[in-house]
Amino acid sequence: MHSKLPDVGTTIFAVMSKMAVENNAINLSQGFPDFPLDSKLVNLVSKAMQEGHNQYAPMPGLPALRQVIAQVVQNTYQKSVDADTEVTVTAGGTQALFSILQALVHTGDEVIVFDPAYDSYNPAIRLSGGVPIHINLKAPSFSIDWQEVEAKINARTKIIMVNTPHNPSGAVFTEKDIQELERIALKHNLIVLSDEVYERIIFDNKKHYSVLERPALANNSIAVFSFGKTFHATGWKIGYVVAPAALTKEIRKAHQFIVFSVNTPIQVALAEYMKTPEHYNSLGKFYQQKRDQFLSFIKGSSLQPLSCYGSYFQLLSYEGISKKGDMAMAEELTIQHKIASIPVSVFYQDKSDNKLLRFCFAKQDETMEKAGEILRKI
Ligand code: PMP
Ligand code: GLN
Repeated sequence: MHSKLPDVGTTIFAVMSKMAVENNAINLSQGFPDFPLDSKLVNLVSKAMQEGHNQYAPMPGLPALRQVIAQVVQNTYQKSVDADTEVTVTAGGTQALFSILQALVHTGDEVIVFDPAYDSYNPAIRLSGGVPIHINLKAPSFSIDWQEVEAKINARTKIIMVNTPHNPSGAVFTEKDIQELERIALKHNLIVLSDEVYERIIFDNKKHYSVLERPALANNSIAVFSFGKTFHATGWKIGYVVAPAALTKEIRKAHQFIVFSVNTPIQVALAEYMKTPEHYNSLGKFYQQKRDQFLSFIKGSSLQPLSCYGSYFQLLSYEGISKKGDMAMAEELTIQHKIASIPVSVFYQDKSDNKLLRFCFAKQDETMEKAGEILRKI
């Protein structure tokens, strides 16, 4: 078989979660909460099903949900968006990114990606006929050198993908980052594809700099969000895209033939649930406590934490204790020590191995306490 993605195996999230189950290990690898979501939201979904909201939703998403999203965007980013022409409900952030790239990338177009990157970016760009141009961000700060970015831009560059708060590093954009992004995008007429799925999971009084807040940048930008992250329901695979009408029109051309529309009862439920800002406003505070709990539980471990300002991932360095590759280290921790993590080298196209492992702290305190007990002995 002449593979379209010869170098691609099974995603690391499937690999490590399976390894965790097979070895009865605590699974801090794939990012998902192990605590229940708000029963109010579950009840709203159940009610929607019982009331008969079980057939196809409109292709771009339920109007009531798109209206609430537009309102939330207005309240959060002071950006007025048209619910009919600028908001599209998707089957999670992953499908959103895929549909956007399918819709906009022509064969040979270059797309700038910062590594370490969420693992769907590179294959999604290539399946759309594009050429990913990877720029490595270095530990411990994972900050972007915008001069380096500008040096990579040429006539074929079409899109620049950014992700803040950043998976896996927990780095977040500064005001200078968003200013530089705007300057470069406007100067070179690039589309910015901004993955903001962790928009509300940000700590230490840092501010989330969304592309939606800056009018000139927003004109050239597509922002991607995920309800899975915000409402502790990653298995629901539902999110949305905010983009100017002309881009939205193109994105929907792909979206309609990838999923057509997203499941109806959850859209009905979210349209109601999202009307209450308390349902999402304190997410940063909630996860900051989780991060701090995790850090306190691992105190004394020889694995060293890096700074984490957002997302629900904590990087730990094992540089001081082993020269092993990070995949081998993650395997050893899962099989022998019964704790699963993600090796960060998989997020680098060139497999840069900085002896870092990613641990998810979207977990109950008792899960993290057990994880801490193990990690303190390492
Ligand atoms: N982007 C990033 C950076 C992510 O971490 C994730 C989820 N791991 C996604 C996109 C995809 O989100 P979803 O689960 O809604 O597809
Ligand atoms: N976003 C999650 C993570 O980074 C997992 C997504 C997935 O399993 N595809 O762990």
